[in-house]
Amino acid sequence: MKILLVVPLIVALPLLAQPRPARDASQPIDEEYTKKIREYTTEPFFNSPLTDYLPASKTVPTPKAVLGDVAGAPGILPYAHEVYRYMRMLEAASPRVKVYSIGKTEEGREMIAVAVADERLLAQLDENRARLAKLADPRTIHMDDAAAEKLVAASTPIYYITGTIHSPETGAPTALMELAYRLAVDDSAYIKFIRENTITLMTPVVEVDGRDRMVDIYRWHLANPGKQWPPLIYWGHYVGHDNNRDAMGLTLALTRSVLHTFVGWKAQVLHDLHESVPYLYDNTVGDGPYNAWIDPILAGEWQMMGWNNVSEMTTFGMPGVFTHGTFDTWSPSYLMFIAAMHNGISRLYETFGNGGADTEERTLEPDEFARTWYKQNPPLPKAKWSQRNNNNYEETGLLTGLAYFSANKQLFLRNFYLKAKRSIEKARKEGPAAYVFPADDPRPGAQADLLRMLQEQGCEISRAGAPFTVMMAPKKAPPKRGQDTGAADTAAEDGDHKPKEKPKPEPRTFPAGSYILRMDQPYSRLADALLDYQYWAPNDPQKDIYDDTGWTFGELGNVQVARVTDVNVLAAGMDRIERPVAAPGGVSGAGRVFLIDHHADNALVTLRYRFPSASFEAAEEPFEAAGHKFNRGAFIVNGVALRDLANANGELGLQAYAVSAAPGVKTHPLRAARIAVMHTWLSTQNDGWWRVEFDRLKIPYDYISTQTVAATPSGSLRSKYDAIVFPPGIRNAQAVVSGLPMYGNPLPWKVTPLTPNLGKTDETDDMRPGLGWTGLDRLQEFVRQGGMLITASDSASFAVTFGFTPGVGVAPAPRLKVTGSALRSKAVDAASPILYGYGDNLAIFASNPPVFSLSNMVGGGRRQPKPDEHQRPTGRGTADDPDVPQGRIPADIPEEPHAEAWEALPLTDEQLRNPVNVIPPAARPRVVLRYADAKELLVSGLLDNGGELAQHAAVIDAPYGEGHVVLFSNNPFWRAETKGSYFLVFNAIMNFDSLGAGRKLADR
Ligand SMILES: [Zn+2]
Repeated sequence: MKILLVVPLIVALPLLAQPRPARDASQPIDEEYTKKIREYTTEPFFNSPLTDYLPASKTVPTPKAVLGDVAGAPGILPYAHEVYRYMRMLEAASPRVKVYSIGKTEEGREMIAVAVADERLLAQLDENRARLAKLADPRTIHMDDAAAEKLVAASTPIYYITGTIHSPETGAPTALMELAYRLAVDDSAYIKFIRENTITLMTPVVEVDGRDRMVDIYRWHLANPGKQWPPLIYWGHYVGHDNNRDAMGLTLALTRSVLHTFVGWKAQVLHDLHESVPYLYDNTVGDGPYNAWIDPILAGEWQMMGWNNVSEMTTFGMPGVFTHGTFDTWSPSYLMFIAAMHNGISRLYETFGNGGADTEERTLEPDEFARTWYKQNPPLPKAKWSQRNNNNYEETGLLTGLAYFSANKQLFLRNFYLKAKRSIEKARKEGPAAYVFPADDPRPGAQADLLRMLQEQGCEISRAGAPFTVMMAPKKAPPKRGQDTGAADTAAEDGDHKPKEKPKPEPRTFPAGSYILRMDQPYSRLADALLDYQYWAPNDPQKDIYDDTGWTFGELGNVQVARVTDVNVLAAGMDRIERPVAAPGGVSGAGRVFLIDHHADNALVTLRYRFPSASFEAAEEPFEAAGHKFNRGAFIVNGVALRDLANANGELGLQAYAVSAAPGVKTHPLRAARIAVMHTWLSTQNDGWWRVEFDRLKIPYDYISTQTVAATPSGSLRSKYDAIVFPPGIRNAQAVVSGLPMYGNPLPWKVTPLTPNLGKTDETDDMRPGLGWTGLDRLQEFVRQGGMLITASDSASFAVTFGFTPGVGVAPAPRLKVTGSALRSKAVDAASPILYGYGDNLAIFASNPPVFSLSNMVGGGRRQPKPDEHQRPTGRGTADDPDVPQGRIPADIPEEPHAEAWEALPLTDEQLRNPVNVIPPAARPRVVLRYADAKELLVSGLLDNGGELAQHAAVIDAPYGEGHVVLFSNNPFWRAETKGSYFLVFNAIMNFDSLGAGRKLADR
């Protein structure tokens, strides 16, 4: 049964009387514009008294000045630069509008923010910001409520609206152009009230690269009537729909620009505009479970604003407005959650759109038009829908929201202050007191990377000047991650079954130089949400889980993070770090050979490609030299000038030891392998998370499609590349080969005068053809000739399906549920180059992962019996006795072959009699990493029926011909949350022609 939300009564009366919507009779309307609004609105009830007219101005241009028609007119979608031109025309014509450049996209397009408010407010923005900054950080006013109250009374809040982050959701830019005009020009009491009590800030286009591509596609559609148009396969330069799931990792330029704007302006609301649901789903209220780290004050604000929005628009007679729905508010990765995590209020609209500016008859699904308790006036089953309707809904929703916010501005400003104050008090009240990042973490580069992300989020980081000791909460510690080589810790399993004593707090001393994130700071909840563990109960009433359920950044980043509840940590001697945290690096010692230890620090791959022609060797065993111990996989570098290496290491935070001669350890070459990243023309969403990190880490690669592979002559793929990376997100194995259906017309994705923005990624004359059988053959030939193919999750299933990996199968797991969770892994073969630099117990990220099964036989051979399937037949004796047939001599029953879940069953004599299907030992798949046992498998998030996945292989190196296919069940590159598992891929790449190093072969 679904637990229904209880709608709280809104007891706080607004301090300011909110006027009713009605236009100012003394202000003339723009007759022509108003006539067009009414013409393009398909039903009168799809409009409101706030948007069914446009006030006239003698000096301020309407959106028509740029669009040539009204906002939301059919057939018109402006490019971002046209939207900006209009906003700057407004700025030039009205003292109530200011335009700010807030950053550039990956492809160099500008992002802007437009502030609209009464001219007196805009003239005092700096003074207002100074007041808001004090409310945002109550330490500056000594947590004095009376001082805060004065600031609240004197301040004007900031309401930040962001448009079209999802590029096929096209209505927001024109809606925001017209909204800016209305807020600047309309003299009705309602609009004036907003203008004088709130500063409305808007970024009309968030995904600028994607918007321009979407407009290109729409232009192509208009120029090719009756034809099918190309799907918008690229939105931004890297990711599509996921571009609003980056608020934790901060990988994309658009996220950072919106974050800096929100935090820099000390805004109170971030309201992100989307289109997918009829007609306006204000998903502010959404559904449970709510994020567990937010201040409960925020949950109340969501209810107040969401339900007010519904009730206001319902009084206008607009159907289909609701706020409770299917969206769970658990993951803090959404763009809007920048506000929730910075003591503001996150909001999101789903409005209805046609994916362009055509007016069309739209038919809804029964669950969309059904009346429910939270949708008493539901959308119509069938209606003609226009982009103008969309603009009416978006503007009306925003205006009612702005009016309510303005009327309650003191309440929301006070809450803004209170949430910040309570975040500071959190350290001593609910805890933890701090997160500590120990100075002796073997991965200082990864540690610095995580700390820099937290700094960019606005968190303050301090550094301990001396060792300090705190009491650590008695908690079942997660398995230690460090530099142990993967040997099981048998000491803990000593067979002692005496009842355990209740664990006591234990002291822990952190070394000098440890980093401390104090929780008595305004954005402590953000740090807690990102660094803590997440638990999603398998029996949670929410079954339609919207997004990832786990993300613990320390675990997935392979960084040691200590959650300290002892408030004495706050008294440790420490200094605030003012600059971005950086790992120390350089070269010590003398000599022309350089030794660099391997701790799976991502900067190591950057170093390799920085000196592509230098000699880099990998040590196949641990060794000692220059007074230091080095891990298996350590780099031995020759042929780089000392000064060049010192510069690079300083930048990258790597430490090298110079010696006069290479140590006598067995080595093999570490290659600056030539890489291609291969994509389909079906979906490129997930390869973006790989590309963005390859680019950031300066790993060169060619970006090719399945069509490129199909068109490459036999033999030449291998002469061009050493490694082909095929990221997940491929839909299904068969679709990779077949591509899109060939029924209709060709679907070009390329730069033309009509579509100037479809470049900078990849191009094709027709998106429809897939890899095809020729391409499949070329890809297999590439591996057979010594290349390496890297696959993950569903692209790994592709490799298994098409026979790249004899001996690997994908087992059915019908009850397993893993929804974007962090899971524990165990090293199986620590000598594999793929594990160089890693300790054991790495957390990996998986979402519905394939469950690999292993066999020494092509085609799978016999299935491993499950433990409960071992039963003796009915017969004489006890349950443990053998049966004894009568009338003949007794015979020993041969032992059943046994193997662990990650292993192949040993071959039987029968199988070896004529071993046609037996895979030779050197050609068998080598399991490198497996999933942990069921009881310790879950790190964070949701795991249901984990027994179906537990102990199964997670990373497999499958030899094929002269080359290798590397299979990841997990996804090693995901939203910059999985930086700890990147090096599994980088190791594979740099060791592509030595992957067999350290392998022990079966003797038969
Ligand atoms: Zn959307």
